[in-house]
Amino acid sequence: MQNGLVIRSTGSWYDVRSESGHVYRARLKGKFKLQGLKVTNPIAVGDRVLYEVEDETENTAIISDIQPRENYIIRQSVHKTAHGHILAANIDQAVLIVTLTFPRTSLGFIDRFLVTAESFRIPATLVFNKSDILNEEGLAYQQEIINLYESIGYTCMATSATEGEGVDKFRQLLNHKITLLSGHSGVGKSTLVNAIAPDLNLRTNEVSTYANKGVHTTTFAEMFELANNTFIIDSPGIKELGLADMQKEEISHYFPEMRDLLNTCRFHNCLHINEPGCAVKNAVGTGDIAESRYWSYLGMVAGEDNRR
Ligand code: GDP
Ligand code: ZN
Repeated sequence: MQNGLVIRSTGSWYDVRSESGHVYRARLKGKFKLQGLKVTNPIAVGDRVLYEVEDETENTAIISDIQPRENYIIRQSVHKTAHGHILAANIDQAVLIVTLTFPRTSLGFIDRFLVTAESFRIPATLVFNKSDILNEEGLAYQQEIINLYESIGYTCMATSATEGEGVDKFRQLLNHKITLLSGHSGVGKSTLVNAIAPDLNLRTNEVSTYANKGVHTTTFAEMFELANNTFIIDSPGIKELGLADMQKEEISHYFPEMRDLLNTCRFHNCLHINEPGCAVKNAVGTGDIAESRYWSYLGMVAGEDNRR
């Protein structure tokens, strides 16, 4: 029995990477327990599994067991009663690539991404790409936004994939991790990935066409190995990550700067909208919570779709 990592899933076949980097085409042995989850797929990309080689020349293997997951992202069915689908498991971090102009990534979109990552207990980092195209005013604004998110506790970095600025830092960020990489189309995801893994050129094109196809193809997520034990999982946005399934009352728990205040609100079930004695609203008043974050929060509580 050997330990492997699932790097691709088609629903019936799984590509399992051995510890030495060999990839087997594997299938499941018998019936698989779903670990108490209501899902359609027992195994997803990122799962650590036990397998036995079936045929060394044919490169086939049989998966017999799955290790407990550190975390996983699930896409709920639109019909609440139906089964969901696990997109990926054991994600070390979520990295959102943003550009404040060309294309513009809104703060609302950033906040929804961060809330989603918090809800899945995945640490998140923001990468501000295309820094080279910003003028003085743009750079000052970018720094203001970086200061805001760093003050909440998120790691931020500025890069220019084309000029090389910050590319080493980006490489270090991904090194030896499984990273869920997200960002609007056009922010420079492929260019950044190519900058740190030029040999993967062909494959990254694949990543970006796959990203652009949207919801339906994400069912079969794929991991790309950029360097030894450095993997990315491509995901175009956050819609796939299932924020829709969150309860109103939960949302403020996923804003780290609100989380600590929650039991100082007068009402224990405060939604921080217009209740008296609300610690969150007070903190917005004093500037301890940024207005943009609070607006994002209100949008999410109202169920607004804020994808752009
Ligand atoms: P993706 O859709 O996120 O994968 O974006 P691409 O990597 O395809 O990049 C979209 C466009 O932005 C391309 O024309 C890139 O050359 C350009 N681009 C990417 N990164 C940068 C950058 O840091 N600075 C500038 N000026 N252009 C960039
Ligand atoms: Zn409150």
